[in-house]
Amino acid sequence: MRFFVKSLFPAKYFNNLLLLTRFKLINRLHSLNLISWRLTWSSLNYREVKGTSFVSSFVKSTRIKLFYDELPTLENLKHRRPDLYPADLRCVCCHHTHSHSNHNETLHHLWTCPSRLTTTLEIINSCRTYLCDSIKDKIPNANISDIISDHAWTMNLFDDHVGGLLLARGFVPTSLETNVNNIIRNQEITTPTVNQQNDGQVVQSLLFFNMDS
Ligand SMILES: [Zn+2]
Repeated sequence: MRFFVKSLFPAKYFNNLLLLTRFKLINRLHSLNLISWRLTWSSLNYREVKGTSFVSSFVKSTRIKLFYDELPTLENLKHRRPDLYPADLRCVCCHHTHSHSNHNETLHHLWTCPSRLTTTLEIINSCRTYLCDSIKDKIPNANISDIISDHAWTMNLFDDHVGGLLLARGFVPTSLETNVNNIIRNQEITTPTVNQQNDGQVVQSLLFFNMDS
């Protein structure tokens, strides 16, 4: 009975989460069994012990805002304070430098804005290289071709794959977990290996956006 009550509340919370409008795509990917929730929750709570506790707690709180799409993007601010943010306000980074750009500053646009897409792709590539190198360190002759070609390293939104925009928010694709575990064959090593990659991606993104602002 105690186990039932204990597991009932997380299940109810999880179900409510998937019913949020902003989680519509996540809900679809979940129904296709494309998200590894075990690694996603583990990654959300993962933080290597580095720097001060202030830095750690900042990274953790930003990671949670990324996951729930609660960063103060212009689109979220328009929703929260329509009295201060006009509905026709567009991304200031590309609006002024790209005359034909007329993008709303959504969370996904933060990464795909033409003014910073090159750097975003460099971050994604460096994270893929980091993951592949850490696998090669453990198993030098590993065949990593399936990992290299995973949709997780592309900056698109798919409704039948977990792409890089979701990986950057902390959603770990089942395909990535499966492909890493097919090589390592030890879940206890697969989990921290993927978590370290994801942690590096979040920290690099935060540094980048901080420098950019
Ligand atoms: Zn832009």
